Amino acid sequence: MKIQDIQAIQLWLSAPKKIAIIPHRGPDGDAMGSTLALYHFLLKNNHQPTVIAPNDFPDFLAWLPGSETVKIFEKDTENCTKILEEAELIFTLDFNAFHRTGEIMEQTLAKLTAPFVMIDHHQKPDDYATYMYSDTSFGSTCEMVYNFISFLNKKGDIDKTIATCIYTGILTDSGSFRFPGTTGDTHRIIAELIDLGVENTQIPVLLFDNSSYSRLQLLGRALQNMKVLEKHKTSYTSLTQDELDSFDYVKGDTEGIVNYGLSIKGIVFTAIFIENKEEKIIKISFRSQGGFDVNQFARDHFNGGGHSNAAGGKSLLSMEETLNKFEDLVTKLTI
Ligand code: 5GP
Ligand code: MN
Repeated sequence: MKIQDIQAIQLWLSAPKKIAIIPHRGPDGDAMGSTLALYHFLLKNNHQPTVIAPNDFPDFLAWLPGSETVKIFEKDTENCTKILEEAELIFTLDFNAFHRTGEIMEQTLAKLTAPFVMIDHHQKPDDYATYMYSDTSFGSTCEMVYNFISFLNKKGDIDKTIATCIYTGILTDSGSFRFPGTTGDTHRIIAELIDLGVENTQIPVLLFDNSSYSRLQLLGRALQNMKVLEKHKTSYTSLTQDELDSFDYVKGDTEGIVNYGLSIKGIVFTAIFIENKEEKIIKISFRSQGGFDVNQFARDHFNGGGHSNAAGGKSLLSMEETLNKFEDLVTKLTI
């Protein structure tokens, strides 16, 4: 982060401020962890922060400290709009383009006049932010929030609560410390967080060993639906709305399923297609191992983006048409 930006933010934070903190729509562990870590940090420094998520977060993150204070824009639009309009400073974390907050919130954000601070690790940031900490080499926004607090010379403020939020985002976005972007620095930060009291054996249980029986059955269905295009080192699976309904789907149940596609020997590209009848879209997650850039693939063909090994997108076609389009594209690729 540029020294001038750090100094400018230090000046902004030198007196109590009303501050809005925003994660992306469909917030994950890193989005919730980073926004709540910053929330607790700003609260500790006598500001009035509010986390405003575009839509609801999954239940498996509801234990995060402070999650009960999070306002949901799409449920409480009027009140959230007022908070956003009154904010003197606005942080956007774990995304870098307004459209990642959804069609309605995007328009509200575009009208705001307070300065934006972006902290994010995705590619191709839009230019709405006055102050930017944007770096794709990081595995998580949470690691950047840890650095951001350090840049402000406030590392001493990181207590067990803040550390727990940061730990959660680093853990989830790094695929439990497996993905590229996990560095020695990442592990040194993790070590410090554990020294601060983070319950590192308990958090993975809360996050990953908390499934319902029906969620496991849904996973079973997704695994049965999986197709392998061996020649193209690709696998993919899908879940229709009817399948989700028949396994009593709740938000968060499909989280992580996409990764199973890469666990097949020799497969380096995988995708999951999930029907959302209410939004009339097929939501897609892409994952790759090694050099195949799924961010570019998602941008080029499925109106999406993300990182080179983990990206997402959407399709307005039917499930069948979407899967055909995907197969067609893959058979033309040399992976
Ligand atoms: P996931 O597959 O876990 O939803 O997302 C993987 C990564 O891609 C995340 O970093 C997420 O922010 C990004 N991503 C997911 N869906 C979209 C999308 O529709 N557009 C863009 N630009 N990025 C996405
Ligand atoms: Mn992230």
